Amino acid sequence: MEKLLKIVIENNRSWTKHGKVASYIPELAKANPNALGIHIFDLDCNEFCAGDYKTAFTIQSVSKVIILICALMDKGKETVFSKVGTEPSSDPFNSIIKLETRHSHKPLNPFINAGAIVCTSLVAGDNGIEKFERVLGMMKKMADNPTIQVNFNVYQSEKLTGNTNRAIAYYLKGANIIERDVEDVLDAYFKLCSVEVTVKDMARIASVIANGGIAPWSKKRLLPQKVNQIVQALMMTCGLYDASGEFAVNIGAPSKSGVGGCILSVVPKRMGIAVVGPALDESGNSIGGKKVLEEISEKLNLSIF
Ligand code: GLU
Repeated sequence: MEKLLKIVIENNRSWTKHGKVASYIPELAKANPNALGIHIFDLDCNEFCAGDYKTAFTIQSVSKVIILICALMDKGKETVFSKVGTEPSSDPFNSIIKLETRHSHKPLNPFINAGAIVCTSLVAGDNGIEKFERVLGMMKKMADNPTIQVNFNVYQSEKLTGNTNRAIAYYLKGANIIERDVEDVLDAYFKLCSVEVTVKDMARIASVIANGGIAPWSKKRLLPQKVNQIVQALMMTCGLYDASGEFAVNIGAPSKSGVGGCILSVVPKRMGIAVVGPALDESGNSIGGKKVLEEISEKLNLSIF
């Protein structure tokens, strides 16, 4: 398997030249555009990695998966989906336009920024610090890594420059969808985007979801099966920004991407996969990562369809 992964990484490394690293904050612009790495954790606890698997990156939008898990566990399906929808979006991740034009003003789904900010407000905790700790704690458990922490420089820049997210959150407050203090919720959201991880952490998180919500290494249930099911359905339909349909066709595994360059993919009952490649395509998805997953899906027959 490791041999195969090595070949697939090298087959696709040249794709990284066709993408651009996220540059909306200087900290992300420093990422190596040529990096490309992969880690697989299967349900028998076998691990395989290749390429630049040691590269550390910020989790960014992949945190939206764990934020949604916590919101569903803490508030239940009815409450969460009374405030955020379950439909894919054909607009960019940080778009505001649908909030005003949709009759309910609800964000389309939990994986666009507006939806994730609402979900952050729903996570248990009396304030932003407690909400952040709740989600970080879940990330640590699912990654089986108690040392995961925030990259402070990324967090500072996210907070300093996150004015579109601020506009989204204040709009949602005006529409009574967010009931909490907006700046407090945003602070938790910015910190959660800035959590620093590796593909090893992310492959473990994916393996828990692939295993129905049970950690393969301890056999302990970390999230309810129903929550696990909902999260996978939304990853499949909304996980890759406005390119989710194409990803379902070409890879066919519930996945979530982030502008740090990670794509986390869940192969139900088989394995968790994480790739990193900071050079992104125009939808904000890792350009090399996507190609690597495409080739692996083809070779290992990973599509659930
Ligand atoms: N921190 C980014 C934002 O909220 C996350 C974007 C992403 O990974 O899609 O704008």
